[in-house]
Amino acid sequence: MRRFGLGAVVVFTAIVTAVLTSLFWVAAYNLGRGGGVDKRGAAPGNVVTESSEPDEDRELVVGPGGLAIPVAGIRPGALSDTYTQARASGARSHDAIDIMAPAGTPVVAAAEGVIEKLFFSEGGGGITAYVRSPDQRWVYYYAHLQAYAPGLREGQRVARGDPIGTVGNTGNADPAGPHLHFAVHRMEPGESWHDGDAVNPYPLLAGGSAASR
Ligand SMILES: [Zn+2]
Repeated sequence: MRRFGLGAVVVFTAIVTAVLTSLFWVAAYNLGRGGGVDKRGAAPGNVVTESSEPDEDRELVVGPGGLAIPVAGIRPGALSDTYTQARASGARSHDAIDIMAPAGTPVVAAAEGVIEKLFFSEGGGGITAYVRSPDQRWVYYYAHLQAYAPGLREGQRVARGDPIGTVGNTGNADPAGPHLHFAVHRMEPGESWHDGDAVNPYPLLAGGSAASR
C-alpha cells in the first residue's frame, strides 16, 4: 500500500536521524572528556592519569613569577621579549609582550583575579579583558582576542588557568599575525582599570636575564 510505504520511509528516516545524532554526541562527549586520546592505545609503561581537572591544566606552564603563560601550549622558549619594541611610529613603547599563536588558541588567566572590565577598542586592543588581582595591586590585560570564553562576564572570579577567550587579531593587530597582547600593570590604590604602570611580563613568564626597565 502506497500510504503505508511513505509512512515507513518517514519512520525509518527519523530512526536513522536519531541514531546518527546520538552517535555524534557520544563522539563529541568522548572527545571533550579525553582530548581525543584513546587510552586503550597508550603504550605499555605510559602512565595515563585519570583526573577530574580540566584539560587546560595539563598545558599550564607557570613561570618564575608565578604567572602562567596565558596561551595554551606555549613553552617559555617560544616567547620573545617585545616589551620595549616601539609602537605607533616610535611615539610610545609597547609595554606588553605579544605571544604569537594560531587564531582560536585558548587564552587562559595568567593569575587569579576578578574580571574588572570587558572592553572593545576598535583601533587598539580590539576585544580585551582586564583582570585585577585579589589584592588590587595588579591588572592583567589580554588584548586582540578573537572571542571571549563562553559566559565570561565582569565581576567573575577566575583562577590561574581559567579560560579568558581565544587568540585573534581584533583591533589594530596585523591580520596576518594573530597573537595575544599581554600586559601587567602595577596599580596604586584607587586607580581605574585603564590606569597603572606597565611591568615587563617577559621575565615573569620566561625567566632568564631579560632586559628590564
Ligand atoms: Zn602587542
